[in-house]
Amino acid sequence: MRLILLGPPGAGKGTQAQRLVSRYGIVQLSTGDMLRAAVKAGTTVGKAAGAIMDRGELVPDDIMMQVISERLDQADTTNGFVLDGFPRTVAQAEGLDRLLADKRLDLDAVVELVVDEEALLARIEGRARENAGAVRADDNAETLKKRLAVYRQQTAPVAAYYRSTGQLQTVDGMLPIDEVSRQIDGLLAGAGREEFHQASG
Ligand code: AMP
Repeated sequence: MRLILLGPPGAGKGTQAQRLVSRYGIVQLSTGDMLRAAVKAGTTVGKAAGAIMDRGELVPDDIMMQVISERLDQADTTNGFVLDGFPRTVAQAEGLDRLLADKRLDLDAVVELVVDEEALLARIEGRARENAGAVRADDNAETLKKRLAVYRQQTAPVAAYYRSTGQLQTVDGMLPIDEVSRQIDGLLAGAGREEFHQASG
């Protein structure tokens, strides 16, 4: 099982990725985690990425392709993987297509968790207010707004890319976590029968 999870920050990609890991015995490939480890270890990639990550910007595509290519060469990916946080640009999606073709691997699914950004913001703001004192609601909402803006500009086109290749499937990410899991499961059970599960647009 090789799949990609797409969706904005706060959509629940990490949670769903972890569930897929235990359900299918695959590995979670989170490029954010890989980069944070590289920064901590002080590697060349880490040195290049650290400041960019601090600014909330995207690390250049060539670096990301190098990171993911090396990771896919590791033996633990043989059973499959769920990509979480990659690809984040259309160039990365195209690079991944070339990489997988080189390795003679196919993707089984690209699943987008679709969320209502207004509702997402309201939810986060409400939660921050409930926790008043620990986190300032404004700060939290501001940060999320910035991350959503980067997502909208650079990463939303990735969903359009996979829609154009006929690989995109969508799930309502606003549903309860267990229901989202159930729906992803349903899509994956039908992987290879994509005529029944094409995204409607
Ligand atoms: P995440 O944990 O997925 O939110 O990623 C944390 C940060 O790492 C992002 O804000 C980016 O700066 C960087 N990053 C992670 N994945 C990518 C990617 N695929 N392309 C570019 N930058 C990335």
